[in-house]
Amino acid sequence: MDYKKLADLLFPNITKTVSYYEETVFPKRDLKEGAVVTRLAPSPTGFIHLGNLYGAFVDERLAHQNGGIFMLRIEDTDDKRKVEGAIETIISSLEYFDLKFDEGVTVNGEIGHYGPYYQSHRAEIYQTVAKYLVEQGRAYPCFCTEEELSEVRKQQEAEKVTPGYYGKWAKDRDLTLEEIEKRLKNKESFVLRFKSMGSEEGRFEIEDAIRGTLSMPENFQDIVLLKSNGIPTYHFAHVVDDHLMRVTHVVRGEEWLSTLPIHYELFKTLGWELPIYCHTAHMMKIDNGVKRKLSKRKDPEMGLGYYMELGYFPAAVREYLLTILNSNFEEWRMANPDSNISEFKFSLNKMSISGALFDLNKLNDISKDVLVKIPVEEIYSFLLDWAKKYKQEIVSNLTEHKDSVIKLLSVGRDGAKPRKDLIYCEQIFDFIKYFFDEYFEIVDPYPQNIDEEEAKKLLKAYLETYDHNDDQTQWFEKIREIAEQNGYAAKPKDYKKNPDMYKGHVGDVSTVIRLAIVGRASSPDVWEIQQILGEKKVRERIKKAAM
Ligand code: GLU
Repeated sequence: MDYKKLADLLFPNITKTVSYYEETVFPKRDLKEGAVVTRLAPSPTGFIHLGNLYGAFVDERLAHQNGGIFMLRIEDTDDKRKVEGAIETIISSLEYFDLKFDEGVTVNGEIGHYGPYYQSHRAEIYQTVAKYLVEQGRAYPCFCTEEELSEVRKQQEAEKVTPGYYGKWAKDRDLTLEEIEKRLKNKESFVLRFKSMGSEEGRFEIEDAIRGTLSMPENFQDIVLLKSNGIPTYHFAHVVDDHLMRVTHVVRGEEWLSTLPIHYELFKTLGWELPIYCHTAHMMKIDNGVKRKLSKRKDPEMGLGYYMELGYFPAAVREYLLTILNSNFEEWRMANPDSNISEFKFSLNKMSISGALFDLNKLNDISKDVLVKIPVEEIYSFLLDWAKKYKQEIVSNLTEHKDSVIKLLSVGRDGAKPRKDLIYCEQIFDFIKYFFDEYFEIVDPYPQNIDEEEAKKLLKAYLETYDHNDDQTQWFEKIREIAEQNGYAAKPKDYKKNPDMYKGHVGDVSTVIRLAIVGRASSPDVWEIQQILGEKKVRERIKKAAM
């Protein structure tokens, strides 16, 4: 067979060569020794999930901790999956978590010399490589229809052999040039298939930077390189793009492991150096005591929108992700409590291979630790920006009472054991909303030993003696007096010694007061809160609860 002739027949308009692209258009990058080039390659489906973020974080750390490049390439070869606005969502979601690309697609066009960065704009490049493979006798057109393929499948099932297009089943592998010419003239539609040289029994070894040495079965299937519309499959586009974009590390989910033999054979056939593969583990969660994969359908926390809508702080999510990304991160954090996470040396061999366990409670705990270190002014402005986007109705509350909100957020944060009350914006607003009369409500019940009448009596006494200028000690002394005058122990330990002598203790009395002022049985220091609320509001709230 004259493969050159076949190549010209199939790709009459392709005049460039692979070496033209390799040498002139996409030459080797001029980066310092050891610099890593990574890419995030999402499909524009509009859904960007935690797994993407997890992988993107690996890409970003690998590239940026050593002067490399992190790029965004959009894998938009599947028209059916395209969603309007998806690319903006991808970029803004990653930006939210402070993942910044050096190259590739941006909201204002593309940057970098290795583009286009939309696969849909790279047709000529794929076809050039495809034409080369045809010339080498390693790719051929296949005219099989869906019906023919399903017929083959049925026969393979009956014979109990491996399904697929290979060996004797690869019907169009040996078409003559004349036959091909004839069918092209008839305008029969075809796909371009790879001619595999692998065998079903063969195996090869490959290093995965996360998983170590893998022994894998060879590819022996004549997989599709170009679909009938000339658009490449993932397998072909991955190999061509990652080679020509000079990507050094391919970080992708473990769902791609099973097709790695295809990519391996393609790289070898093209004589190209393989990138370093890094197959990340699935994100898992514990559900009713059972560990399972996080699911887009079942778990709202899988979508990145979840964190943005609730107003999680990017720094907290990043910190948490690092704890599940690298097993030695927490130890490092303990030794370096105030260092920036960029100082942590991220390494691929410290990553989990059995599944990255994602735990919302742990994220929330870490968030509390992270937020306690963020200055309140910064928390306030993040909260305000979040409200402008996701909770418009509270924007004026926050802006008109900026000083008070900042004070409310600050209560209990100083000192050796600061309170860790703040987690994410929605929760933060919930935590301080008692300040605003329209949101104030008493949500917790009075202590068991105090009924409505009794509570009113105590609150009346509180109102009578209330002096907004009392300092904290004077204020609490008065509560003790009220307690004693009404039959409550002034000290909890006295009550514990002789519970029969009292109705309760001073703590019960202050809970009643706390409920009247804050609406909840637990809160930061009530005296401090009263100072922020102001005398008028305090008196009104006590009066209301005492009536
Ligand atoms: N477009 C593929 C995906 O979204 C990319 C996989 C890869 O990173 O190579 O899963």
